[in-house]
Amino acid sequence: MKAAFITGHGGNEVVKIQNYTLPPRAPGEVRVRVHAATLNQVDLYMRNSGAGITHQLPQILGLDASGVVEEVDAADPVLRPGQEVVIHPGVACGRCEYCERGQTVLCTRIQFLGEHRNGTFAQWIHVPATQVFPKPAHLNWAEAAALGVNHLTAWRMLFTKARLQPWETVLVFGVGGGVSLAALQLAKAVGARVIATSRDDGKLERARAQGADHVVNSHSGDVVREVMAYTDGRGADVVFENVGEAVWPLAMRSLGRGGRLVTCGATSGDQPGADLRRIFVRQLQIFGSSLGTLAEFRDMLGFVGRAGLRPVIDREYPLDALHAALDHLESGTQFGKLALRIDGH
Ligand SMILES: [Zn+2]
Repeated sequence: MKAAFITGHGGNEVVKIQNYTLPPRAPGEVRVRVHAATLNQVDLYMRNSGAGITHQLPQILGLDASGVVEEVDAADPVLRPGQEVVIHPGVACGRCEYCERGQTVLCTRIQFLGEHRNGTFAQWIHVPATQVFPKPAHLNWAEAAALGVNHLTAWRMLFTKARLQPWETVLVFGVGGGVSLAALQLAKAVGARVIATSRDDGKLERARAQGADHVVNSHSGDVVREVMAYTDGRGADVVFENVGEAVWPLAMRSLGRGGRLVTCGATSGDQPGADLRRIFVRQLQIFGSSLGTLAEFRDMLGFVGRAGLRPVIDREYPLDALHAALDHLESGTQFGKLALRIDGH
């Protein structure tokens, strides 16, 4: 089959788009014919160094996907060939104490597609049948693929961790990114107010079109002052961020009393000042989060279907153009997701 895999670490020269022999499907696994996948920052990380992520070369990239079930155990109670599906990218062991408690996303042996096992940038993938869920019918292939990382991550952050309520205000930093846009969509869909920031006025305009109630240019504007003015001096209930050090002091000062900050990334650095006095005096809470459980995935898919949400796709590339897509991702100029179309080969 055709697949995109890394043979080493460096630039695009280590990313090959070539023939790759898919190992046989194991019992309990399902063979999915991939139609679309989307790019995530971790794809660049795997290409550049992959440091700290145990993997073998060659490693097929790609975490999320949508596609069609081609082959599944006859005894599978749910899946049938021909079903349109989306894939949850984290394969948990099912045996550790975290798995036993249902916290599969904390599994000590979790394997992510595209990091620890064959990824989705390929014509076919084998994954345990438990990872495969019906595709929301209103979405196209690229939109559906985008749910597997971005919307799942944002769902857990907003609703499981920060417990965002419909009457609250959430401040979303860096709204051009896929996870931040997913947060904007999900928060609006439950009725919360959203303030969005970006360094790019064009992205802020588009965030408004996606439903942001108020937008702030974090480069030319004063985020804290704008948040306080918009909330009548009270501050945001929830801050949603994955930028890290560059925005952390602003994030902390934008929170109202009892506010919650939830983070899933640190692209600008991971050692900001802790601001401990503010944390205890104002009784702030800080949550780390990453991806989400199978149960959260199921809940999120049901909600996205009922609310009719559509992930924002900036551009679709054919699998053969992955190098250009990775360059685009690295440039940071995209609004929403970059997707790969994998059918048609
Ligand atoms: Zn486990």
